[in-house]
Amino acid sequence: MPEYFHSVTLDRDKCKGCTNCIKGCPTEAIRVRDGKAVIIEERCIDCGECIRVCPNRAKAALTEGLKDIARFQRPIALIPPSFYGQFPPQVSPGSIAAALQAIGFARVVEVGLAAEYVTEAVVKYVKEHRTPRPLISSACPAVIRLIQVRFPSLADLIIRVEAPIEVAAVIAREGEEGEGMFFISPCPAKVTSIKQPVGRASSGLDGALSMAEVFGQILPVVRRVEPLPGYPQASRIGTSWGRSGGEREGVAGRSLAVHGIHHVIKIFELIEQGGLTDYEFIEAQSCPAGCVGGCLTVENPFVAETNLRYIASTYPRGWGQRPKVADEVLRLVKPITPRKIWQLDDDAARAMAKLLLLQETEKELPGLDCGSCGSPSCRTLAEDIVRGRASINDCIFNLRERVRRLAEEMVDLAGKLPPAMAGGEGETIDPK
Ligand code: SF4
Ligand code: SF4
Repeated sequence: MPEYFHSVTLDRDKCKGCTNCIKGCPTEAIRVRDGKAVIIEERCIDCGECIRVCPNRAKAALTEGLKDIARFQRPIALIPPSFYGQFPPQVSPGSIAAALQAIGFARVVEVGLAAEYVTEAVVKYVKEHRTPRPLISSACPAVIRLIQVRFPSLADLIIRVEAPIEVAAVIAREGEEGEGMFFISPCPAKVTSIKQPVGRASSGLDGALSMAEVFGQILPVVRRVEPLPGYPQASRIGTSWGRSGGEREGVAGRSLAVHGIHHVIKIFELIEQGGLTDYEFIEAQSCPAGCVGGCLTVENPFVAETNLRYIASTYPRGWGQRPKVADEVLRLVKPITPRKIWQLDDDAARAMAKLLLLQETEKELPGLDCGSCGSPSCRTLAEDIVRGRASINDCIFNLRERVRRLAEEMVDLAGKLPPAMAGGEGETIDPK
């Protein structure tokens, strides 16, 4: 298994090296070199921001396809609440479940159901762990990776409760071993979390399909099928997890919900500086409006959020009687370790020398953060130079200045003919 699996991939043939993607990457994971984007593996958190902004569709998410479910006799679809938000409220959950059966799934299980168990576990965790504060939700895998890469000091604040998709896999597999379990994913981060989990040894799922692809497949049939009985399975609280603020609504106490990866970064910076300690709980989601706005969805995030809010408002508030799920299913068992990507050298003295060199190099750069060099900012270019991945001449302003100085020198030299040549302006020697 490679050190890092990434759902987000680059099609080099489609990439035009336009540099649009390098600026929005929250972990400065992209460079453009030799006219093509390059993703630095250890920095990428699979948030999908680069998929959203690439005008040439050169970035994509690697997922399973519908043909992969055919390998299993009784494939199961795990559908998150955000999937319901992609449809207008007139399309019932029972019709969506029936349409999924029509394209080949044997069973359909709502992840919202598992979100209810997770809500209970989070409430208990917050109550039992009085310090430190604020505690951060573990539900969004892009946010977990953001903490590993950019905010290692916040790792201890992550609530050690399993994400709903893994709990849903356990509930769905109950009594039926050997089935294919596929998540209908709104984002590449969840695909990555199945292939390479953080906080647990392995995933209980067999793969993930793109929500956009599945939506396209069931659209022709969803209004024609007879709705399946028994849906929705989840109540209002579990279903609300698909949008920003939904998870927070189930947790008592002072809490805050933030969505959109760049807003999440601002909140984490505040926490890193010692702020927000009077908050019990932070719900943080990488995508705009929450999972409904993942880059593998089809509807406008705000329309999908409104759809989901309406659908959930028609559901019962409480979750009533449910079978018990074992405590260990709900627990994140493995440590969430920071990725040491900003370290310039393993040796402390060499790292310090490189840091000084980086600071000196940065002073030589114009500070415009234009991205023309293929690095997202002047500071990252300085870092790339120190790491031996770039040259000072990659800065076009620096290069232009050097060319200008060279041109001046050449003009100067052109006016200076050797003394042996007639009319030369070289140094004259008195013949006496
Ligand atoms: S946005 Fe990035 S991936 Fe897309 S064409 Fe431009 S450089 Fe290539
Ligand atoms: S998926 Fe996110 S972290 Fe990875 S390269 Fe794209 S923007 Fe950067």
